[in-house]
Amino acid sequence: MKAAVVRETAPGERRVALVPDAIAKLAPAGIDVLVETGAGDGAWLPDSAYAEAGAAIVGAGELYRTADVVLTVTRPPAPALQELRPGQAVIGMLAPLSDPELAATLAAAGVTAVSLDGLPRTLSRAQPMDALTSQSNVAGYKAVLVAAAEFGRYFPLLITAAGTAPPAKLLVLGTGVAGLQAIGTARRLGAVVSGYDIRPTSKAEVESLGATFVELTSVGSAAGEGGYARELTAEERQAQTDELAAHIARQDVVITTAQVPGRRPPLLVTEDALKAMNPGSVIVDMGASALGGNVAGSRPGETVVTGNGITIIGADNLPATVPAAASSAYSRNITSLLLHLTSGGALAIDTSDDIQAGVVITHDGQVVHPGVAGLLHREGGAGVDGTGH
Ligand code: NAD
Repeated sequence: MKAAVVRETAPGERRVALVPDAIAKLAPAGIDVLVETGAGDGAWLPDSAYAEAGAAIVGAGELYRTADVVLTVTRPPAPALQELRPGQAVIGMLAPLSDPELAATLAAAGVTAVSLDGLPRTLSRAQPMDALTSQSNVAGYKAVLVAAAEFGRYFPLLITAAGTAPPAKLLVLGTGVAGLQAIGTARRLGAVVSGYDIRPTSKAEVESLGATFVELTSVGSAAGEGGYARELTAEERQAQTDELAAHIARQDVVITTAQVPGRRPPLLVTEDALKAMNPGSVIVDMGASALGGNVAGSRPGETVVTGNGITIIGADNLPATVPAAASSAYSRNITSLLLHLTSGGALAIDTSDDIQAGVVITHDGQVVHPGVAGLLHREGGAGVDGTGH
């Protein structure tokens, strides 16, 4: 079986799906690796490193003509969608819940699509394949560094002959994997850290990292399925943003990570909350998206400064800015999944397996993932909120 690593082409994307040391792990399973010329350049992995590890370095044309499995970080580059052929497989983070039309296109082309973002998170045997976790860890860490670089004062308490600098007050909204990593990183830099999440189980996790958990009296638990949060009702949303605003106003730095699977990220920092913050405060919105993020006025990939001096960083793809660490972790995740899917030197698709049921999105010309198929069957084939997202 030939597995091929494409060169990612999304703007700012510097990760690569496999690092060279994965090649030796795949060989015993009968998997030969092809690597598109320059695929690892963004993560400082030259073609020669892949060639030395046993991969064949090829152009895009040969790659799509000969590969059995195409390995990507995000969705395949748009021109590649025309090149894919029936019976080929694509494995990557394809975000099928927010982009079900891609699944429909791949199914129509007879391509088997496997998406690491559908992995069951709480299954212990799936943990080595958990790319959402590995990439969220990278993102949570980098979010704090991005905030510290933008902030005009120190994070730690510093007592010097020139005076005492108080520590920065930093609040993390959404304390899943990325949020907890942000809390740990901010504590190591000496900030005074608090965290808030709508899932009550995260209180103990936040406190175990030495941070304070913010408890709201107006909103109850919103734990959903699979350890994820559910979407709040309009009344709950209003109560939450009203009560959070008082906490946000006291912060120097706010990092937001809140997500609800397949939905637009919830708005947590409103215009009013922004107006109550002190000039010089910094917000990193990891939920920033074209449809809006966790922070009013944030724009993905851009830094916006409000009229009252609040810097809002729309950090939509932080893992791509730590490409070596993010690629190395992702490579382990995708290698582990590929080995799980392979039997006798070929892909063995079997959706009665818990892991495969989560990750296999299309097969044999059909969208086989019930959640994604359900989205496509809704009116007009649009996404969950009617806008394709
Ligand atoms: P995520 O990226 O889907 O969301 C980030 C955080 O935002 C979550 O903690 C969520 O509760 C929170 N959130 C959503 N709406 C919110 C709102 N309105 N207000 C405040 N917070 C809000 O989450 P994730 O980091 O992918 O983690 C999802 C779950 O998976 C967690 O329960 C995590 O512990 C679990 N998990 C388990 C394992 C494991 O068992 N091995 C591994 C990884 C993740």
